[in-house]
Amino acid sequence: MRNQQATKLLFEMSRSGRRAHHLPALPTTAESATSLLPADQLADAPPPLPELAEGDVVRHFVNLSTLNMSVDTHFYPLGSCTMKYNPKRNERMASLPGLVDVHPLQSDRSIPGVLQMLYELQQMLGEIAGLPGVSLQPAAGAHGELTALFVAAAYFAERGETERTVVLTADSAHGTNPASAQIAGFSTRTVKSGANGLVDVEDLKSKLDDKTAVFMLTNPNTLGLFDSQVQEIADLVHSAGGLIYLDGANMNAILGITRPGDFGADLMHFNPHKTFSGPHGGGGPGAGPICVRDFLADYLPGPVVEKDGDEYRCVTPTKSIGRVRSFFGNVGVLARAYIYIRTYGKEGLRRVSEDALLGANYLLSKVRHILDVPHGDRCMHEFVASATRLRKEKHLSAMDLAKRLLDYGFHAPTVYFPLVVDEAVMVEPTETESKETLDAFAEALFRITEETGDTIELAPHSTVISRPDDVAAARKPILRWNSEES
Ligand SMILES: *Cc1c(COP(=O)(O)O)cnc(C)c1O
Repeated sequence: MRNQQATKLLFEMSRSGRRAHHLPALPTTAESATSLLPADQLADAPPPLPELAEGDVVRHFVNLSTLNMSVDTHFYPLGSCTMKYNPKRNERMASLPGLVDVHPLQSDRSIPGVLQMLYELQQMLGEIAGLPGVSLQPAAGAHGELTALFVAAAYFAERGETERTVVLTADSAHGTNPASAQIAGFSTRTVKSGANGLVDVEDLKSKLDDKTAVFMLTNPNTLGLFDSQVQEIADLVHSAGGLIYLDGANMNAILGITRPGDFGADLMHFNPHKTFSGPHGGGGPGAGPICVRDFLADYLPGPVVEKDGDEYRCVTPTKSIGRVRSFFGNVGVLARAYIYIRTYGKEGLRRVSEDALLGANYLLSKVRHILDVPHGDRCMHEFVASATRLRKEKHLSAMDLAKRLLDYGFHAPTVYFPLVVDEAVMVEPTETESKETLDAFAEALFRITEETGDTIELAPHSTVISRPDDVAAARKPILRWNSEES
């Protein structure tokens, strides 16, 4: 009930003559609008804006802002997305005048501090990845995938290996992998997972040939499993002449523990908005820095920051694929990543991942008694349960479970991804949640599975709208109020 008022349109609350401020009437001088603009450009009536007191407007927007769940208000175990709590301190530091008042067209010599920060971030990301060539330009994880595939294409083109037109993706991969490959001009083939949820190496072998350009691998994969065959996989792909791309969305599981470059990856992206406290959601801005092996570094987009003695300067790599983003990329998001990494340091970053693994395994050990967890006894930073039993016993779906969790005050986990699990419920608790929160979440899951079918089927009961048409909401959003239509 608390929020019902917020769903009223300001227009419905409008009362003629009500005002936030009373301004003095405009003087009618020769300089008035009527004399400056042609008559046919003037509106004959004022626009039909709502008339309200300031207090009503403030309450309206503050209440509206509480209708969505967020990391700042609720536990948000959205698997694959790593919705961890981002320290407010990082926001404050990223808003320091030395960062936000810089103009992108200033000369390199006038912004040594920003260049030093970007240079050091390149170095640190290269170190975490075990891949020394770094570009901070891409604006999101998916954009990083696309950029890295352009880099791979440029590399093969220069070697005259133009027959390498196929990108292999795992069947548990994020949809952005095949999509990026298509946009970069490759065709895609899917490599199956075995019953254990890991890459089916025999299937991979059968699909490797002299057309293979890149195998896009997610490790730990989207089932939350570390693929221990990764060295063998990398050897197979490399001996077929292909490259390994590592989808780095799951780096939160392995920071400081292992490095993609050490287990065979040639190119990868980071998602700073998942791993390094970038703001997440709302459509950006994000960032998707990529790291590559040294033999691929010359193809990276510019500018790359180099250090020459005490000076920092921007260079464009010699065989660069060109720019993929204006200026330096989204510096505000990169600044948060820099602050996050510098704050934790080497040991701290490793602790982040160890705690993420601990939290996920603790929750897994509880959830296992409530839902089926088809793959793995242990997990990395996330796990994928299945609601198949709920469907068989109560005709309920993963979506029903997700919706009912909202009534218990939890953001829903990711559902129906990855596609290799029936009625998938993908849970990523992250290292920033307490044991009490994880216990409460497991308890809520348990209580829901004990409830009657209709309670769950009609859920959520506590939100302003219950089950919107997701597709229509995304494809045909209503973003504009029109006085004629209402
Ligand atoms: C989030 C994610 C991506 C895409 O990253 P964006 O920054 O959202 O573009 C790719 N792969 C996986 C596994 C992801 O979870």
